[in-house]
Amino acid sequence: MTSVDTVVRSAPGATCAPDLADGPWTFDLAPPSYGPGASMADPIPASAPTQGTLPAAYTQMSAEELDARIRAAKETLGDRLVILGHFYQRDEVVRHADFVGDSFQLANAALTRPDAEAVVFCGVHFMAETADILSRPEQAVILPNLAAGCSMADMADIDTVEQCWAELEELYGTAPDASGKVPVIPVTYMNSSAALKGFCGDHGGIVCTSSNAETVLRWAFERAHRVLFFPDQHLGRNTAKAMGIGLESMPMWDPRKPLGGNDAQSLRDAKVLLWHGFCSVHKRFTVAQIEKARAEHPGVRVVVHPECPMPVVDAADEAGSTDYIRKAVEAAPAGTTFAIGTEINLVNRLAAEHPEHTIFCLDPVVCPCSTMYRIHPGYLAWVLEGLVEGRVENRITVDAEVAVGARVALERMLAARPPERA
Ligand code: SF4
Repeated sequence: MTSVDTVVRSAPGATCAPDLADGPWTFDLAPPSYGPGASMADPIPASAPTQGTLPAAYTQMSAEELDARIRAAKETLGDRLVILGHFYQRDEVVRHADFVGDSFQLANAALTRPDAEAVVFCGVHFMAETADILSRPEQAVILPNLAAGCSMADMADIDTVEQCWAELEELYGTAPDASGKVPVIPVTYMNSSAALKGFCGDHGGIVCTSSNAETVLRWAFERAHRVLFFPDQHLGRNTAKAMGIGLESMPMWDPRKPLGGNDAQSLRDAKVLLWHGFCSVHKRFTVAQIEKARAEHPGVRVVVHPECPMPVVDAADEAGSTDYIRKAVEAAPAGTTFAIGTEINLVNRLAAEHPEHTIFCLDPVVCPCSTMYRIHPGYLAWVLEGLVEGRVENRITVDAEVAVGARVALERMLAARPPERA
């Protein structure tokens, strides 16, 4: 199976944006945008970090030269360095990673290397922040391209969440009832800024991942009558629906409207308030794609990520995190056909690693995550050679006060246990 990079360069007509074939540095100095790929139409906040100029030499090297220079720098740095690669990164980057996984697996993987002076996180901004929160203060967490944000994480910011919280406190009050439950608890998806994780820690709330969202919601309902869930409406809705919560009890909170666009009674009746956020990668999957896959591949197993819209999750055979998807593929009997609804780099890699199966992406158009794609081997070579020369480029540092609250919210997540099954 050819890598996504190769497809992008050799068959631009098969992709959602022909300028994916341009080096990401083309976009670094243009007005801020997420760049080509799934999030290209999403508005980027004015405050989103931007990347300065990448030295020209790194934009002109061949793929082979970059590969060789990354290997050489890695060898020179030895145990002083750990490279983390998210599942959604391009193969040309992931092949250099010491650990490959989802965001939380990678933050934990970094903990196994406390002596590494530098943690180079090939992923997006919120992931590097989480690694900084969990790593030792002396360790430098580096994001090779500062423009690698996350359009979903950017859909909820601390100012609008605080405004929402003030409106909810005015409506619900803050006092616990006779059973000790408070009116509402904030729950943030891992895919959010450190500031929002800190907000949750400071307000009795918690973080969740796509692997443990149900466990976390149950934890929250033991302590509160309602949950404010941000930023991903789809993960919140799919999880709450699977727990038996009716859609009428899940109003959407649109931060641009008073009371989030709701009336007071529907907010009082709510169980889960869903923030108006989504992942533009997973929003691309449709029920029509699933129907086509079933028509063309009788017996196909359709597995999608819970960031997909609810009708897509309902039409699929299974929904689960990237880790769930990987394990489902590994455990399947040889000869299984999978149609998978998640980021194309992971789907193609699974197909290459499992020639005993037929694996394809539900979306026939190659459209990688715009921001994951901003990490190019050129940036990786640049930050690694900087470390060899004693320069720390693109360090991500979370404010100490924010980190305290964020750590509390992450620790609550780790302590939350699924209920005992009878
Ligand atoms: S895949 Fe979606 S949630 Fe993940 S980094 Fe890209 S935009 Fe963000």
